[in-house]
Amino acid sequence: MFESAEMLRESKSTNGLLNWQQELQNNITGIDQLKNYLALSEAEEADLRKVVGSHPMNIPRYYLDLIDRDNPQDPIRKLCVPQSDELIVTGAMGETTKDPYGDDKHDKGNGVLHKYSYTALVVATEYCAMYCRHCFRKRMVGLPNEQTVKNFQGAAQYIANNPQISNVVISGGDPFLLPTDTLRKMLDALKDIPHLKFVRIGSRAPVVYPIRFFEDELIDLLAEFNQQKTLFVPTHFNHPNEITPLATEGIKRLRNAGIAINNQAVLLSGVNDDMTTLVTLMNGLLEIGVNPYYLYQCMPVERVRHHFQVPLKKGVEIVDAARQQMDGYAKRFKFIIGHDIGKLEICGKLDDKLILKQLHARPGHEEESSRILVRQLTEEGGWLGDLPEVELK
Ligand code: SF4
Repeated sequence: MFESAEMLRESKSTNGLLNWQQELQNNITGIDQLKNYLALSEAEEADLRKVVGSHPMNIPRYYLDLIDRDNPQDPIRKLCVPQSDELIVTGAMGETTKDPYGDDKHDKGNGVLHKYSYTALVVATEYCAMYCRHCFRKRMVGLPNEQTVKNFQGAAQYIANNPQISNVVISGGDPFLLPTDTLRKMLDALKDIPHLKFVRIGSRAPVVYPIRFFEDELIDLLAEFNQQKTLFVPTHFNHPNEITPLATEGIKRLRNAGIAINNQAVLLSGVNDDMTTLVTLMNGLLEIGVNPYYLYQCMPVERVRHHFQVPLKKGVEIVDAARQQMDGYAKRFKFIIGHDIGKLEICGKLDDKLILKQLHARPGHEEESSRILVRQLTEEGGWLGDLPEVELK
């Protein structure tokens, strides 16, 4: 497949434009297709057929090629290929939900989630280049592009009517999976809102589908918009094996457009829950010009938590050990619980207690911002509610 930028250029169609949309048609979406790439045991195949009935599979060929086919425990495989464990709705780690962020409570219509007064999150599309197996947004369905633009214009009106909103996160799904013309209309709807200071476009395409950024028209659009409102791209590398020459070149193209890229990884069991992998990931990101920003604790999501969540005690020990091996820039990331009550930074461990600091408060709970929380660590607890409240003595 596209191992180098040279091969990528050769894949351009006759009019000289890279057809990234056409390549998406080659994604692996069925178990019979998958068997052409990976050996599956009979039992595994039967389970996977059941899993894809409730959480579909969608893997770009580029990403599938990153798998070490001889290693059934390969981390890239775990991120994209369904596993039998997904049949477990609620497992050993405890209760699960379909809406871990409590998003539904903050829904203002047209895809706007307004949880913190100064930030509006707009779910612009439900399409993704890949369906990641650990995704907490497993519950969505798709909309046609015209409806996406119409909804976004409604979202922009909401933002224009709320002068306390200083920034917007365009999220999904993956906004970069929208055609460039659709994105242009969306960004046009934002560019003249005076109180809007900066815009973020959250995307995993730099990781799972870097060829999207080889379309010059997209890069030109982003560079142009970045002249009017500062643009950031939060992305989502989870493992050093995702930092390929092609991903590096995609990132370079974004950076050449003047865009800062921040990484939001998730700590995932069997993928990156060891010191060496985390150190290599954060150092590798810095090397290609991506800022390590967040490392999220995996949320208690149905069909995800049981096999992907790392107990907080183990997680904080791994992160602390990894930080000891990192320089100042690599260790700038915050270890985060994205909780319904607000974002909480996991500061560290004091004996057998977990020390957290609230980073944002929900509207109406301003007294909670910046507060320190202390919880009793347990061997298995993986979420705030699992750990008893205690006081520091
Ligand atoms: S690209 Fe993002 S939103 Fe889409 S499945 Fe992956 S993690 Fe979820």
